[in-house]
Amino acid sequence: MNTRETLKINSKGHLEIGGCDTVELAARFGTPLYVFDEKYIRDMMRVYRDTIENEYDGKGLVLYASKAFSCLAMYRIAAQENIGADVVSGGELYTALKAGFPAEKIYMHGNNKLPAELKYAVASGVGTIVLDAYDEADMLDELCAKAGRKQDVLIRINPGVEAHTHAFVQTARTDSKFGFSVSDGTAERMTEYVLKKPNLNLKGYHCHIGSQIFEKQSFVLAAGKAMDFMAQVKGKCGFEADTLNIGGGFGIWYTDEDAKTDVQGYAAYLKALIAEVKRKSDELGIARPFIVIEPGRSIVGEAGITLYTVGAIKDIPGVKKYVAIDGGMFDNPRYALYQSRYTVLLANRANEPCTEKVTIAGKCCESGDIIAVDVPLPQAKRGDIAAVLSTGAYNYSMASNYNRNFIPPAVLVKDGKAEYIIRPQTYEDIIRNDVLPDDLK
Ligand SMILES: *Cc1c(COP(=O)(O)O)cnc(C)c1O
Repeated sequence: MNTRETLKINSKGHLEIGGCDTVELAARFGTPLYVFDEKYIRDMMRVYRDTIENEYDGKGLVLYASKAFSCLAMYRIAAQENIGADVVSGGELYTALKAGFPAEKIYMHGNNKLPAELKYAVASGVGTIVLDAYDEADMLDELCAKAGRKQDVLIRINPGVEAHTHAFVQTARTDSKFGFSVSDGTAERMTEYVLKKPNLNLKGYHCHIGSQIFEKQSFVLAAGKAMDFMAQVKGKCGFEADTLNIGGGFGIWYTDEDAKTDVQGYAAYLKALIAEVKRKSDELGIARPFIVIEPGRSIVGEAGITLYTVGAIKDIPGVKKYVAIDGGMFDNPRYALYQSRYTVLLANRANEPCTEKVTIAGKCCESGDIIAVDVPLPQAKRGDIAAVLSTGAYNYSMASNYNRNFIPPAVLVKDGKAEYIIRPQTYEDIIRNDVLPDDLK
């Protein structure tokens, strides 16, 4: 089905995840429901962590890129697995700290961190801040002077490698709101700029070449280019970087158009990267850097599924058949945003052969409210439970209350047990921040 051993079809012909029958989960918790398999999440965190341990003497850190799915439970699991986390907003930082996540293992990203977010990061002792603008360095330096602390920082660079799902290109100039280009001298200038800041401790560089990437060579190439740049600044500015953060982006299985990568396959990405970093250090005569990776999607994407109840079905002869579910773009906007593809099953009839191709539509007042197109299914009927696979990353974290629908709750499953990690919303939550000004009262 996908690459997880905990997702299977049980003797009743029902889809099962983490030892829990999804039809029973739907009955107990209602739908729509996000379901996360704890074992898968931990296995992924461990394989990255252990690969750095075994292949690179532990001289590195895995960060969970928490924008993929941010909630108290995820930070708690990452802390227990002894990995770090990256955050991109005050809200993610707040959640991590509330979960008791160690601040020194947090990296903060963002192309436009707000002054208040920087202040919050400094006040809470965030380990590393990844700089992405000149005046951000100014602001941070001032804040640190006031707080009487020296802050570890990285600079976000563009190594001139752009990766896409099945291809990558080398670019001389990068059109991106992120980072400083290594090819036009801006990354070097930013380095000199930051080195002059008395309260900033420049540790090295960060890059992130894209997402949903399967091509190992694109990470290897980016790492190689970043190392070339590190050798260049050592020569020209006398600065020896000791950290290289290569970002995230490892691809996952959504449909059979994507490769299925098991945990060893993900270890292989990291091994290739480590081999290149070692080779380049020797070749360039620079010290082996502390390496950081930031996988998000590959840790939590395939760990999650979404359960829905089938409602209205509209067959437009000669055109298409719409199967509407009780969720939609408010819990998964990825088709609307990127025409993403998904695999869908009828969880209560998971053994039945697929007899038709349908479009899974949501319940929002929006024709673009689609979850997936052309998915093979048995003939669906009202009341069936539909399961959309690989929804663990960038679904809940991108959800909204559009049309004043509820953002669905989430449960964590393990060994046949299921517990809420995100509670259901209520109508009261929907109007929680609404205010009637005096003259409307
Ligand atoms: C999004 C992002 C990641 C995680 O990417 P995945 O594709 O989810 O692994 C890591 N680092 C940065 C800077 C990002 O923006």
